Amino acid sequence: ESAALSRIGLAGLAVMGQNLALNVAEKGFPISVYNRTAAKVDETVARAASEGGLPLFGHRSPQDFVLSISRPRSIVILVKAGAPVDQTIDALSHYLEPGDAIVDGGNEWYENTERRIREASARGLLYLGMGVSGGEDGARNGPSLMPGGSHQAYSNIEDILTRVAAQVDDGPCVTFVGEGGAGNFVKMVHNGIEYGDMQLIAEAYDVLRIVGGLSNAELAETFAEWNRGELESFLIEITADIFSVHDEHGDGEIVDKILDKTGMKGTGKWTVQQAAELSIAAPTIAASLDSRYLSGLKDEREAAAKTLEQAGINSADYSTVRSVDKKRLIDDVRQALYASKICSYAQGMNLLRSKSAEKGWNLNLGELARIWKGGCIIRARFLDRIKKAYERNRGLANLIVDPEFAREMVQRQAAWRRVVGLAIEAGISTPGMSASLAYFDTYRRARLPANLVQAQRDYFGAHTYERVDRPGSFHTEWSKIA
Ligand code: NAP
Repeated sequence: ESAALSRIGLAGLAVMGQNLALNVAEKGFPISVYNRTAAKVDETVARAASEGGLPLFGHRSPQDFVLSISRPRSIVILVKAGAPVDQTIDALSHYLEPGDAIVDGGNEWYENTERRIREASARGLLYLGMGVSGGEDGARNGPSLMPGGSHQAYSNIEDILTRVAAQVDDGPCVTFVGEGGAGNFVKMVHNGIEYGDMQLIAEAYDVLRIVGGLSNAELAETFAEWNRGELESFLIEITADIFSVHDEHGDGEIVDKILDKTGMKGTGKWTVQQAAELSIAAPTIAASLDSRYLSGLKDEREAAAKTLEQAGINSADYSTVRSVDKKRLIDDVRQALYASKICSYAQGMNLLRSKSAEKGWNLNLGELARIWKGGCIIRARFLDRIKKAYERNRGLANLIVDPEFAREMVQRQAAWRRVVGLAIEAGISTPGMSASLAYFDTYRRARLPANLVQAQRDYFGAHTYERVDRPGSFHTEWSKIA
């Protein structure tokens, strides 16, 4: 007798895989699961049982696992990116048949996905590289899904993905992103934007704390208040929570006891590398990456603080030196954060558009903003406005010149300049906000000092220049004329 076959399979039962498998089962799709180390299979099966007998079936051998899935098979892989994905594919593919599909849900480098698409297709297999965002909770209760690669592979599981994804007012947070490695690339840029958001929020905290002298209780209240307005987002919400969590090992709040060294796993670096490859300015995202690097130099920073204090730099809190109008500062910082965030998203979107043109992915930026409205880490109210901006004009050159965003930027620029100016005066760095403001000020100027750089290039390297008043390329014998 043969048992009923599962609709889908999932291999890799760490945090993400386990939770996504339970989510699929909860939506009523029978799912087979497998993990290299069998203990995680038992753990997942036990969770499915304790959560009300979800239709989830554990397998300890790759063969039993694959054969337990109905054809054409769809198998989601959620293991560490890189070689573990190739090893998992090797373990499973012996039992796969033409028409079956592999769906890698990890944070994979998009070129690895493109290589695997070619390898899979040589064996008649379909392949999807699917970005999954939302962490543990998203995977369990509704992530944002960014699948790219084989459209057929997507169609085979579209009914499952649309049920499993986060649901927002205008549909499930999933769309077929594009061919090749488009899904992984979009997830990578999502993460780069996430780096920018986190850095900007940290800078807002720094200015409010150092310049404004706000306590953790006041910070919690401020962020909770911001989360009821235009800044409403998952990251602002959790930030408000963080300030009110007490330290279980001592007095005060945990936030003050956490070492100021940020970890990272590589997607932010990839985003900045890709921006450079494509000649796309992404200074806010780059500043957030640099800030993580500098945060890692804790010992050097402590030594530098001593040396420079001895040399005469006062490290006293600004709020104790000057009197600051807290209410006004809070309002200014809110506006600076919002304006800076728009510039950061503009950079991420431009990176996506440029890569899309290079690869022929035909990415729909408005639709990508839509699927980020729920489930993922950067989910935010204002993504709906970004979606609408690209719906109004699919060829929009830059988010900051969309008429609505342009108006908002102009309304906020005085507050934005005050915050960056105060930070500079107080000697605290706001690299993300400053980079965003510089991006804005550079982009909005019809004439830049680039004429001088061109003159220098022509002077020392005969690189030639163009003129403002006539066509053609020109060279001057600079030293002879001077
Ligand atoms: P992870 O810690 O990245 O990986 C652990 C899993 O990989 C385990 O199932 C492990 O199996 C398996 N694995 C490692 N090396 C293997 C190999 N050589 N062969 C076969 N299996 C191997 O797990 P995760 O945090 O759940 O993340 C999974 C993927 O989702 C990653 O690409 C991650 O970047 C991405 N992601 C994670 C998050 C998050 O919040 N954690 C969010 C979005 C995306 P064993 O149990 O046998 O060791």
